Amino acid sequence: MAFTRFSSIRSKLFVLFLAGAVFPLALVSLLAYFTSLRAVEQMVGNRTAGLAQRVGEDLSRKLRIRLDDRILVENRPAQDFLAAADAVAAGKKISGAEVSRLHRDLRLYLARLFEEYGGYYEEVIYADASGHPACRFHRSEGAADLARAASAPQSVSGETELPRGGERYQEPAGGPGTGRRGTAGSGTLPFPTFPSLGGFTEQDRAAAREGLNLAPGEVRITTDRVSPGNTRILRVVMPVFSVVDVRLQKETMVADLRMDYLFPASLAGERFGSHGELAVVNAESGEILFHTRAELVGRNMRLVDPALLRAFRTVAQRGGESPWVKAPGQPGTRLASAFGLRSVPWKVIAASVPLEFEAEARRAGYRNLLVASLVVLLAGSVLLVFGKRISDSIKEVTRGARRIAEGNLDHSIRVTTHDEIQTLGETFNAMTASLRESIAMRDQAARELELLNRTLEDRVQERTRKLETLNEALNQANRELTELDRLKSHFLSTVSHEFKTPLTSIKAFAEILLDEADSRNASEEMKRFLGIINSESDRLSRLIRNLLNMSRLESGRMLWRMSVFPVKEVVDAALDGLLPVFRSREVELVRNTDCPGARFHADRDRIQEVVTNLLENAVKFSPRGGKVWIACTEEADANGGRRLRISIRDEGPGIPPDHLEKIFDRFSQVDASDTRSKGGTGLGLAISREIVEHHGGRIWAESTLGGGTTFHFWLRLVGDGERVPTADGPGGKPALRETEREHHG
Ligand code: ADP
Repeated sequence: MAFTRFSSIRSKLFVLFLAGAVFPLALVSLLAYFTSLRAVEQMVGNRTAGLAQRVGEDLSRKLRIRLDDRILVENRPAQDFLAAADAVAAGKKISGAEVSRLHRDLRLYLARLFEEYGGYYEEVIYADASGHPACRFHRSEGAADLARAASAPQSVSGETELPRGGERYQEPAGGPGTGRRGTAGSGTLPFPTFPSLGGFTEQDRAAAREGLNLAPGEVRITTDRVSPGNTRILRVVMPVFSVVDVRLQKETMVADLRMDYLFPASLAGERFGSHGELAVVNAESGEILFHTRAELVGRNMRLVDPALLRAFRTVAQRGGESPWVKAPGQPGTRLASAFGLRSVPWKVIAASVPLEFEAEARRAGYRNLLVASLVVLLAGSVLLVFGKRISDSIKEVTRGARRIAEGNLDHSIRVTTHDEIQTLGETFNAMTASLRESIAMRDQAARELELLNRTLEDRVQERTRKLETLNEALNQANRELTELDRLKSHFLSTVSHEFKTPLTSIKAFAEILLDEADSRNASEEMKRFLGIINSESDRLSRLIRNLLNMSRLESGRMLWRMSVFPVKEVVDAALDGLLPVFRSREVELVRNTDCPGARFHADRDRIQEVVTNLLENAVKFSPRGGKVWIACTEEADANGGRRLRISIRDEGPGIPPDHLEKIFDRFSQVDASDTRSKGGTGLGLAISREIVEHHGGRIWAESTLGGGTTFHFWLRLVGDGERVPTADGPGGKPALRETEREHHG
């Protein structure tokens, strides 16, 4: 969320940089620094512990140097001497030479022992199994005795001729150190006494007795002695056990060890670091036996450095796992380690100050930090520079996009960062170019369209104007034609009406004259003329009737008297009316069916007119003696109803195919001259088609030239029980009024 508050890319990059680089780097540097400090501490601690252990082990070794072994294994001279002394004391006689030999062997043994270990020991007191000091050997004696023993002649006399030791070791006669050993001047076999056998102090005897209470391997050390050269002496009391049976204590050895041997001057240099410390402390008393700071030797650790002791005790109580502990000190916290010696209550304590070693790690840490800071600074600067470039380029792209959004398509985005932003800018440029192109194309198309529209509009207007003019002309023509038609119909009906009356008179008079011709002895020629007048007036009246019908049909003034009637009746009526014609033309009629039961709902007279017309034509065009067939066929119509087809066939000349339709036009005849000779008007079929189609039927002709003609027409049949409208057909009433008016008119 906080991220969104940084509105610029640059600041976001900077925050990213801080989060992604600076913080981890700082963290890693700190971690490395603390890790190195910890490593230094570990190293110092381990080295300190190692030092304590090394010094401790060295000290142990020095304390337990092979002395006890030697005394145990190679102490036969001492054993023999002591055994002889016991024997003499028991009253056994031993020759002087034997005593001398025993004495010399013992001295040689001890001399060699000291030659070997003299560097460590100031003095050795040798006590028997009862805790009585038997002999003492001082190191200054050892070398001299050895030399003398090697050269001195053996004495076998009672009086000892062995060299005598230093006066200081001469035990005063009757002194407390004589023990049970042969007492000088006692009067018994004079057993030689060691020159150094005497002079045991009470302290020496106590130490010898102390040896009796020690277990095998155990040592008791006292440090309260000071040698003549003011060197501190360490008195070590060790029990000496039999090699055969370790439970059998043979002797006790009391050895005064030299401190400068245990803690040579070089040990002071054995410290870790310039502030390092090394000390050997008596854990029981707290006395400092050795310290790198020599002035502290002999003082009590509890008083001198209580912090160090406390730290060790705490760790000891807790049973710490680390070989070192931390203790406060100067110039910083110390890491201290202690090594406890096994047979003495001593502890070797080593302490070091890691601070002085950490200085290097600290310096390295600072160096790291410096380098890291420089790197971060450099990276930050680079980031700022690049961030600015990125930010600027994005701003440029944004500005460009805004311009484009405002509709400025001529603006070009200029970014040269050679990266995605440049690609974005170029894409924008390409997009605007494409947009410009599209817009130009669109404008061009719009202009062209407008032009086209204008032209089209003009043309349409022009065409409309022309059409309007044309329409007006057509309307005018139509009006004129309608008027003409109306005039024609009017003329026709007027003429027909006007013709009717005189024609009726002509025909009537012609018939009268014909009737009276015989009685008035009229000539044959007269009769023939009268006959012609009669038949021509028939023909004329037929023409007039047809003309009147036609004009009624066309003007819609025909009066339709609709009724339901049996088809058979109409056919019969038509045939009856034409029988004379059939007869006169000697044409045989063949009736295929009577179509019984079939009923039409139509204008009965008009349908009869159709049948009559078709039969008339068939007879008219039949050759003399020919046949005419009339047939009815019931069929299903397309609407699921029934219809009846009436077909009339003749054996006439037939009709050419291109005339099969034309013959239904008004005044249309295949061959005018031929037809005229047959007394036709060219109106019959036209009227028949009008009538049939008015009733929803269809009429047509089929013919083959020279093979006769068949005329068909069909009308819908009225089904059984079907109810039909009783009113007159369409145009009936107005037509009636019109007719009536016509009649009245
Ligand atoms: P018309 O009074 O002249 O017979 P129609 O309209 O009845 O007038 O006939 C038109 C013409 O059709 C006739 O003039 C004739 O040429 C032809 N036509 C009609 N019926 C037949 C037929 N049965 N055989 C041959 N031609 C016919």
